[in-house]
Amino acid sequence: MLLRHTPKEVKERVGVTINPAKTCQPVGAMYAALGVHGCLPHSHGSQGCCSYHRTALTRHYKDPIMAGTSSFTEGSSVFGGQANLLAALTNMFTIYDPDIVAVHTTCLSETIGDDIPQIVKKAFDDQKIPEGKKVIYCNTPSYVGSHVTGFSNMVAGIVKGLVEKTGTPKDQINVIPGWVEPSDMREIKRLAAMMGVKIVIPPDTSDVVDTPQTGAFQMYPDGGVTQAELATAGDSIKTLALGRWASEDGAKELDIKCKVPFETLDLPIGLSATDRFVQALASAAKVEIPASFVTERGRLVDVIADMSQYLYGKKVALWGDPDQLIPLTEFLLDLNMIPVHIVSGTPGKRFEARIRAIVGDKVPTLNVKNGQQADMFLMHQWIKNEPVDLLIGNTYGKYIARDEGIPFVRHGFPILDRIGHSYFPTLGYNGGIRLLEQMLGVIMDKIDRDASESKFELVM
Ligand code: SF4
Repeated sequence: MLLRHTPKEVKERVGVTINPAKTCQPVGAMYAALGVHGCLPHSHGSQGCCSYHRTALTRHYKDPIMAGTSSFTEGSSVFGGQANLLAALTNMFTIYDPDIVAVHTTCLSETIGDDIPQIVKKAFDDQKIPEGKKVIYCNTPSYVGSHVTGFSNMVAGIVKGLVEKTGTPKDQINVIPGWVEPSDMREIKRLAAMMGVKIVIPPDTSDVVDTPQTGAFQMYPDGGVTQAELATAGDSIKTLALGRWASEDGAKELDIKCKVPFETLDLPIGLSATDRFVQALASAAKVEIPASFVTERGRLVDVIADMSQYLYGKKVALWGDPDQLIPLTEFLLDLNMIPVHIVSGTPGKRFEARIRAIVGDKVPTLNVKNGQQADMFLMHQWIKNEPVDLLIGNTYGKYIARDEGIPFVRHGFPILDRIGHSYFPTLGYNGGIRLLEQMLGVIMDKIDRDASESKFELVM
C-alpha cells in the first residue's frame, strides 16, 4: 500500500495541493518552442528550473531535449537577470547557432520582475543578436497556471514574434494542435493531406521529439513548423484552434495581428469530436470529405460495436489536461461507459461547466474539479468512496492503480514508465481505435486475471 495514508473522508482544503495533477508552466513553453524548426528554448531562471523542465520532457519523449538557461545565482536574484540573459543570448547564438531563441520566464525571474521585452530589445540594440536571427518570448510564472497555460503562452509568443501577413491570401488553414503528442500532430497532417487541404501547424513537434536513430547527432532536427510557413500563416483562410486551454490564445493573437478568423474546437479525440474536426476542416477549406474518411470512421464504429459488452456500464476515473479530458469524457459516454471522477490541475472556470454540460444527467454522482486542490490525493479519496473499473491519466496514477487494483490506461503528460505515445496517435478515428485497444487490453487482462479456472475463456 503505497498510498496507505490517503483517508477516505474528503475534507475541504485551501492552500495545499497534494500530488498535483499538473506540472509547471515553463515545461509547456519549452515543448511549444521545440515545435518551431531551428528554435532553441531558453529558460530565464536558475539552472535547477531548466534542468527540471528538460528532464520532464526527456523522460516523457525518451529523446534528449536541448535548452539554454540564464543560470541565475544569488546576485541575479538580487540585482535582476538582465546581464545573465544578454550573456546567454550571445553564447547561444555563438556556440549553438539556432535560427530562433525562445525565452520563457520562471518563478524567480517573474518574482524579480525582469522585463523580457526590454532585455530582448537591448540585446538587438547592442547588436548581440546576429543578422537574421530571431528572439521570441513569453511569461510563464509557475505559481499560476500549469504546463498547459505555459504551452498556450508560448504559442501566442510564436504568433507575436514569427507570424506575418503578406497581404496575398493563401489557400491554407492554420491548425493550432494544442498539447498533443508528435504522433497526434503527424495524424492531423495525414488527415489534412487525405482531404487535400494545406495546413500550417504552429507548433509541430513531430520529427523533433520523436527523431529516428541514425547514428548522427542533429542539434536541430528536421521537424518543426518553419519560419517560411509561419511567415504565411497570417495569409491563411482560417485558424482552427484545437482546445480552448492550449490553443485559443494563439488563435486570438493571430486574429488580432493578421485578421485571420478562428474557430475553437475540441481536440479530435473519439468519434464525435473527430466528426466535428473533419467537418470544420472541410468546410473551412471548402472541400468535400473523401470516402476514405467514411472507411476510417466505420472501422472505429465497428470496433465499438464488436466490443461493447466489455465497455458498457464501466465506471471510469480520469485526470489530466482540460483539452484532453473534455473530448475523452464525451468519447466515454459514446461508448456507454460512465465517467465518475474527473480532475485537472489546470485552472479555468469553464472546465467544470463544460464537463457537466457534456455529461448532463447521465451520471448523477459525477465528481469534477479543476485548479489548485484538484489533485491526485482528492482523486484517490473519491475512488475510495466510489470505486471505478478503469483509470485513464498520466503515469502518476500508477500508485492508485496498484493500491486499488484498478486497470490503468496511461494517457496525457507525463508518461514516464511506458512508450508508444510518441508513435501511435490517439487523435482521429484511428486514434480512437488505439484508445479502445488500450482500454480493452487492460480491462480484459483483469477479467483473465480474476477469472476462476472454470470461467477462464480462450475466446473473448
Ligand atoms: S521554481 Fe517555478 S519555474 Fe522553476 S521548476 Fe519550480 S515551479 Fe517550475
